[in-house]
Amino acid sequence: MSTTATDPRAGSDPYLPGHGDARYDVVHYDLSLGYKVEGNRLDGEATLTLRPLVAAEELHLDLHGLQVQKVSVDGRGQKASHHHGRLVIRCAARPGQQLTVRVKYSGKPRPVRSRVLGGAGWEELEDGVIVAAQPHGAPSWFPCNDRPDSKATYSLSLSAPPDYTVAFSGELRETRRRGNAVTWVYEQAVPMATYLATVQIGRYELVEHPGTLVPVRSYVPARTDRAVLAETFGRQPAMLTFFSSLFGDYPFPSYTSVITEDELEIPLESQGLSTFGRNLLDPAWESVRLIAHELSHQWFGNAVTLRRWQDIWLHEGFACYCEWLWAEESGVSTVQEEVDRHHGALAHLEQDDLLMVDPGPELMFDDQLYKRGALTLHALRVEVGDAAFFEILRRWVREHRGGGVTTDMFLEHAQHVAGRDLSALFGAWLERTALPPCPRRTGT
Ligand SMILES: [Zn+2]
Repeated sequence: MSTTATDPRAGSDPYLPGHGDARYDVVHYDLSLGYKVEGNRLDGEATLTLRPLVAAEELHLDLHGLQVQKVSVDGRGQKASHHHGRLVIRCAARPGQQLTVRVKYSGKPRPVRSRVLGGAGWEELEDGVIVAAQPHGAPSWFPCNDRPDSKATYSLSLSAPPDYTVAFSGELRETRRRGNAVTWVYEQAVPMATYLATVQIGRYELVEHPGTLVPVRSYVPARTDRAVLAETFGRQPAMLTFFSSLFGDYPFPSYTSVITEDELEIPLESQGLSTFGRNLLDPAWESVRLIAHELSHQWFGNAVTLRRWQDIWLHEGFACYCEWLWAEESGVSTVQEEVDRHHGALAHLEQDDLLMVDPGPELMFDDQLYKRGALTLHALRVEVGDAAFFEILRRWVREHRGGGVTTDMFLEHAQHVAGRDLSALFGAWLERTALPPCPRRTGT
């Protein structure tokens, strides 16, 4: 069978072939899950409220590695087939309708594998679970329309053994004990992209970090050294206050860090929650910068989210620049010192394969993209001055929080706020591969 750009089997984002269906939007996911840690067994019922955008005779959902028992649409059993991670539901969909799709499913969840991007999603730890779904792992644990430009609200209830904590990218409403299980009930009322939904299950202790406007908490392994915790994750209220002063109010009701008993290769942001390995319980700058990086994604990535993965620099370049802003604020180094150091390092590398506006799935999480993205922002700051630069960032968040963006939208926005043509600057940094000169204020 051949596929074309309009064939839903091709998926809706060229960086994630076979994921997402652009013919409809999900407005709400209601997930009712039961999980047995021993044996890694998930039993789920997902109720999706969705709105068709065009007329269609079938709808495609993404669900990998799990078995579907039953599908209904608006309460009536519906024919469906499930192959290669695509659940195809035959039903007449018309724009203007609202449909309720219910999927009963179960199995042993595992990461979604991609040849280029590796594994992402539901992952067993030594004793518990993390979900690190960026960018293609959401279908490892719930049926979804896996595209970053389709944001929805969520309800989650998850039953797990009583000695485990269940964290979710949302607000805890209640816990209920029944028999030998505790049900954790969460809500996410701020629209969230599928890849930013996460569940974390482990034997954690809860630590509150007071000192800022919203609750900031960490779930930590038992016997975590509290002095080290204070020097690392204990800095988050100060970081949150600082970033709020630059970019506007923190965009969600709370912020949670989950620190796993296992060491993890990289930390990862989800909505209102980030996941770190215990190896980041270390007061060295290398840990602290990543704690600042993940927190800043709450503004750049989670509140304001790319519509297509090729624009990943709008998340990673911004979060990397936030590391440098925190370095200066906390007295580690100045932003200009970080700019000089990283520009110098990039200048030693081949520059002919990374195009910021379309890096390809192979390079979308490459460190060069992070650093060059941050340098692009500094070049903008030097060009327009501090007042206009921070006004650009503040208004960017204010105008787009809860929604989706593209690089073109950022360029237009920056030019509009600055009141001048910036196409030469952005062209050099984003649309060509050669590295422009190091951005520096005149006289520095
Ligand atoms: Zn990041």
